[in-house]
Amino acid sequence: MKPWTRWLGWLGLFGLGMLFLLVSRLPGEPEAEPPLLETRLLMGTLVSISTWGVEEKQAEAAMEQAFAEMSRIEGMMSRFIPTSPVSGLNDAPRGAFHTVPAELISVVSKGLEIGQLSGGAFDIGLGPLSDLWGFSREPPPETPPAPDALKKWREERDRTPGPGIELASDNRLRLTGPAIGLDLGGIAKGYAVERAMEMLRQAGVVNALINAGGDMRIAGSKGGKPWHIGLRDPRKPDGVVAVMDLTGSKALATSGDYERFFMADGVRYHHILDPKQGGSSRSGLMAVSIQAADSLTADALSTAVFVLGESAGLALLQQFPGCEALLIREDGQMVQTPGFVATRSKTP
Ligand code: ADP
Ligand code: MG
Repeated sequence: MKPWTRWLGWLGLFGLGMLFLLVSRLPGEPEAEPPLLETRLLMGTLVSISTWGVEEKQAEAAMEQAFAEMSRIEGMMSRFIPTSPVSGLNDAPRGAFHTVPAELISVVSKGLEIGQLSGGAFDIGLGPLSDLWGFSREPPPETPPAPDALKKWREERDRTPGPGIELASDNRLRLTGPAIGLDLGGIAKGYAVERAMEMLRQAGVVNALINAGGDMRIAGSKGGKPWHIGLRDPRKPDGVVAVMDLTGSKALATSGDYERFFMADGVRYHHILDPKQGGSSRSGLMAVSIQAADSLTADALSTAVFVLGESAGLALLQQFPGCEALLIREDGQMVQTPGFVATRSKTP
């Protein structure tokens, strides 16, 4: 295992992967046949797949294919894997077009679209800013970057118009300035989870749940009963602020300031960055959960709405029919859109 994967794994155990809790049984409910469960370390987090109603051998083969698909996508879209096309782009001199896989173009164009609709709050080109903050570094940071380094990035970024990422025909893409680098951390996991569920479906698995840190995807049910999902309290690791009973084909993603963070001088610094400010987003929210039809959209929107904050975030959602949100304000108050499915939600 590469060292960075190992320490990301520790983060996964203690930090990530804790946004949702799987509630296996409601009080008083009779014990149903348990789902088959397998967990692996992928994309810097613990990914678990549960399947129900398929014979063990078939389920294992299907899960193997789903994990392999996620690993393939990580190999293409991670900026921490030196051989990935994303690293290739980030390491190359700026300005020239490079041919990349069509799949990468499609994720980048979705990222750019949400970037535009969010007025730049969602920004897949903020790689160099993410590097400065280093939330994915080993050991994790304990202090913010030097103000000079941030100022230099800001000035450079201001010289680059628009998103700084340009697409051209024949799957070509270029980064237009040194302040721009691809960071698909807010969208690629959602895409991978979506593809993994498609692999399960093709292998004949009708009832499944995939939990990849902040990204969850469900299909069908658990023996005719809904999948019970608990949303973790942003400030109490063993508290649950909402319980969702979900069936059918649905995606759920959460972005929060409690996944990867450090405290310095009493201030919380976390990994969701406001590209305009150049630091951790301070929009008045601790967490955003999005329910959507697919995981890519849920993943990107949870990050985008987090950065935009309540009022602009809810306005952005209007442009995504079928997407629903639950927001947790900094004071703990919760706000949810009318269609957000939660059996029980209470302010922490
Ligand atoms: P996670 O993937 O850790 O569950 P998110 O989906 O909210 O959480 O994505 C956060 C990741 O997205 C960061 O680690 C970083 O890679 C990237 N990111 C941070 N800020 C932004 C932003 N404003 N726009 C797009 N991506 C971002
Ligand atoms: Mg996200």
